[in-house]
Amino acid sequence: MIRRYLKSARPAPADARAVGELKPVPPAAWREGRPVLGPDQVYVMKYGREFHTQWCQAVAEKWASAPRGLLVTLLADVGSRSRCPQCSRAASPARERHTRGRHAPEPAPSASVIPLRVVGIAHGILYLAARPEFRDLLSGTAVEPATPLLVGGRRDGMVVRVDVSRDEPLLVVQMDPRAAFRDGPYQARLRAPLQRSATKPYAVEAIEPAPREPDS
Ligand SMILES: [Zn+2]
Repeated sequence: MIRRYLKSARPAPADARAVGELKPVPPAAWREGRPVLGPDQVYVMKYGREFHTQWCQAVAEKWASAPRGLLVTLLADVGSRSRCPQCSRAASPARERHTRGRHAPEPAPSASVIPLRVVGIAHGILYLAARPEFRDLLSGTAVEPATPLLVGGRRDGMVVRVDVSRDEPLLVVQMDPRAAFRDGPYQARLRAPLQRSATKPYAVEAIEPAPREPDS
């Protein structure tokens, strides 16, 4: 297995081989275009001997210079990489709470989920509105081809565009002609764009019915 990996990969520095194979995973969330770690995740670099438990200076510099070389992996998969000294020093809870942002608590996985409500359906086009506070986020969000509306795991339509010209931004969905319209709250799930040429930091992964909200 390891031999096959090494044969297919371009020659890696000896130390990269020694620290163990890289197993990148999607980050728990994205915030301001950056990957945000889940509780069991760490940052690693493509050719690095260390792992990082926070957005330390080394991570920030990597992100600024070569973002594709910055990867997220599970803490369980760091191999023999060691925790970077700055991340180790900052590991006390008091320091970790001191993150940037006004009253931002630790990033929640829900940061990548936008609640939506139905504002209209006509001629097979479904209009879903997000609250004004999501306008900035949606301005940085692309709709890639074949983005589905998923209902009960079934594809009921395709997301065709985001409209941020209104105070309440819209997500526009073309319904499948055979699909039955389902009323109720929806949500958009965001992820990093798949297209390497993407100019926006987010893309819609899918729209789906939302779990019921207490305030609706
Ligand atoms: Zn670090």
